[in-house]
Amino acid sequence: MQTFNMIIDGAPVQSGRLIEVVNPATGQPFASVAAGDASHVDQAVAAARAAFPAWSALSDANRRAYVMQLADLLEANMPEFMALVTQETGKPMGGLNNVGSGMEVGGAIAWTRVTASLDIPVDVIQDNADARIEVHRKPLGVVGSITPWNWPLMICIWHVMPALRAGNTVVLKPASLTPVATLRFVELANSVLPKGVLNVVTGDADVGTAMSGHPGIAKMVFTGSTPTGRHIMRNAAATLKRLTLELGGNDAGIVLPDADPKTVAPKLFGVAFHNNGQTCACLKRLYVPDALYEELCAELARLAGEVKVGNGLDPATQLGPIQNPAQRKLVAALVDDAREKGARILAGGHALEGDGYFYAPTIIADARAGMRVVDEEQFGPALPVIRYADLEDAIAQANASDNGLGGSIWSPDTARAAALALRLECGSVWINEHGAVQPDAPFGGVKQSGVGVEFGLYGLEEYLSLQTVKIMKG
Ligand code: NAP
Repeated sequence: MQTFNMIIDGAPVQSGRLIEVVNPATGQPFASVAAGDASHVDQAVAAARAAFPAWSALSDANRRAYVMQLADLLEANMPEFMALVTQETGKPMGGLNNVGSGMEVGGAIAWTRVTASLDIPVDVIQDNADARIEVHRKPLGVVGSITPWNWPLMICIWHVMPALRAGNTVVLKPASLTPVATLRFVELANSVLPKGVLNVVTGDADVGTAMSGHPGIAKMVFTGSTPTGRHIMRNAAATLKRLTLELGGNDAGIVLPDADPKTVAPKLFGVAFHNNGQTCACLKRLYVPDALYEELCAELARLAGEVKVGNGLDPATQLGPIQNPAQRKLVAALVDDAREKGARILAGGHALEGDGYFYAPTIIADARAGMRVVDEEQFGPALPVIRYADLEDAIAQANASDNGLGGSIWSPDTARAAALALRLECGSVWINEHGAVQPDAPFGGVKQSGVGVEFGLYGLEEYLSLQTVKIMKG
């Protein structure tokens, strides 16, 4: 079993205690990592602070070149990263709609290159006989990044690359369930970057708490659950850290009456079930008009029955296991609650036998508000389908959530769908798609799904502070 190191100030670090990392397809540990603590956070922050002056003073072209080099490193080691991601998350190498570890590593490379290619502008607000006013964008200092277990490498890249590109240095903490690909990436990155620029500490929530309260960290970027996001916000308040919080979602999709059930069913199934529903902006509640309801439910159930569930290392596998037993228990509880409240389970509805944390892809008909699987984020392979008679009511129900990450409208009439999109209370809306993020378009949540955005210049701005320089003339 391979042991992976923390990297602090360019050097490998162990702590004397280990965390075992389990492959969710087998239930067996396949790697171990150091169990770090607050003292390692102190060391990492000190190293990142020491590295900041030189890193932030580099020319923009220089930092851009470093980030491009990191993309090349990811690409050169793609098969290794894919195998690590599949073993720690359970997701297939290819997978349903090709949303697997190949997409995760390929996406990480693409996001890195797009982030490297962004221009950081200097705005000129006024330039006349009286004065010239320039607005510069400057790095913040040390950025603390905390990542979740569903897309561990991709989300690490989403945090780290804009932070570095903007001239900040970084202390990173991956999820304890999925730290391995991140540790390997930071190890490789340190063969290129100056020491102290990118550090990683592994360990439990106490490591995260030490980071969000640390006076040496200027900004926290966090992707994970809404309760943890609240904790980070509270803990960061004492030092008034900048925050980007990408939190939970309970994304609604609304099918309009002019949609064709057979055409939309495979797309809807894909966007709800890829990565086993363990994606922040997966389709999590589906609203379907009366006239299409039974036919669309039957199509979704057929697809759920046909999809191949198994070990992600098997190339034929389309869906892997749920990443961890606690999440599987939550999914099962939400499905059981719906069943007890009168929902029809058209496919799945039970765990699968075996050593891994498998759960049968589940379609829940006659779902309604008041059932937990509608009101709460399931983050797993179970889709509630809610019948509607009145479109206004469907929109109201879609918006009746504390979450506001993504949403979607499904119709051949894209002009009508786009007009309705503006009425959804969420950070992104897709028409005839769902969750299709890309590196140059902003992505973030409203309401309790988050604070701030990621991606493109909009996301890069969150790692920079504005400085106004007014030059008097005459
Ligand atoms: P989580 O339990 O909040 O954990 C996320 C990270 O926070 C882990 O590294 C965890 O460390 C750490 N952590 C736990 N308690 C902490 C604390 N008190 N202070 C600081 N850090 C702490 O979330 P998860 O279960 O891994 O991820 C699933 C959630 O993430 C879902 O709600 C999903 O919707 C959301 N998500 C959102 C987005 C988005 O872009 N909006 C993307 C992906 C996922 P340990 O692992 O060591 O406990």
